[in-house]
Amino acid sequence: WITEFVHTNEDGVPVRDTVATGRYAERFGGQLVLVTGAGSGIGRATAFAFAEAGARVVAVDRDAEGAARTAEMSRLIGSPDAWAETVDVSDEQAMEKLAEKVAGEYGVVDVLVNNAGIGLSGSFFDTTPEDWKKVLDANLWGVIHGCRLFGKQMADRGQGGHIVNTASAAAYQPSKALPAYSTSKAAVLMLSECLRAELAGQGIGVSAICPGFVNTNITSTAHFAGVDATEEKRRQKRAARLYGLRNYPPEKVADAILRAVVRNQAVVPVTPEARGARLMARFTPRA
Ligand code: NAD
Repeated sequence: WITEFVHTNEDGVPVRDTVATGRYAERFGGQLVLVTGAGSGIGRATAFAFAEAGARVVAVDRDAEGAARTAEMSRLIGSPDAWAETVDVSDEQAMEKLAEKVAGEYGVVDVLVNNAGIGLSGSFFDTTPEDWKKVLDANLWGVIHGCRLFGKQMADRGQGGHIVNTASAAAYQPSKALPAYSTSKAAVLMLSECLRAELAGQGIGVSAICPGFVNTNITSTAHFAGVDATEEKRRQKRAARLYGLRNYPPEKVADAILRAVVRNQAVVPVTPEARGARLMARFTPRA
């Protein structure tokens, strides 16, 4: 279900890329899907998968070039309409403007994917208040703004819809190496469950997606390097031994996101180690 397609890059050189395809062909035909953090990794793969399934896609990212590229490639994949919007999701006013623009120009969003996020490693006492603010602003406030603004439009329209929030296995797996990141994701998980209860009567589903380790920029760049990188590596090695951790591609997370919408799933651990950790979290007393 991962298909290769060929497109040309900025220099006109043909390159191969992949898209999660087939399973939901035409399932989202004509629906408006807004994905944040769509300029790279899981968000980009998700935009592609929705485009492939016939949706109109709004690719939002603070990285203008990344968002534009995702929109362009979504059109190539077959989305009748795909647009890019450059917005920092933690900026309340910018998000309000985006919500107004999207409603005015493209319509009410049918599926919202609050996926933008940043990583940060460092022990609790190495994490400065500025670090906390940066992570909570992007990972938690970005999701709050998205849910408030676009969720309200969905509710007011009265025709249902779906919100997907990208949490993480870190939301329920304590780690010495990632206190701020894990806290932000635990908050996203709880927010999603509360909102799911509130919106259930209005035909609006809310899903929290919890991937473990996925091969993207967030895991391969400096975000997760730093003082506790060795601890994080050790954890990954342990997970690899326990759950057969592999290079998990973002396309598989995208597939899980589309499935969560179709099946209206509440909490979705995605990678094998994320599923294992969710099970363990229920039965293991915490140290
Ligand atoms: P990524 O770095 O490839 O993509 C994240 C995208 O979000 C980037 O394009 C970035 O520019 C954008 N972004 C970050 N902050 C933003 C902001 N304030 N406003 C707008 N855009 C912003 O990483 P990814 O792995 O694709 O991450 C996507 C989501 O998945 C994140 O929320 C991340 O925490 C979560 N996640 C990732 C993993 C993993 O192992 N990769 C595991 C669990 C959860």
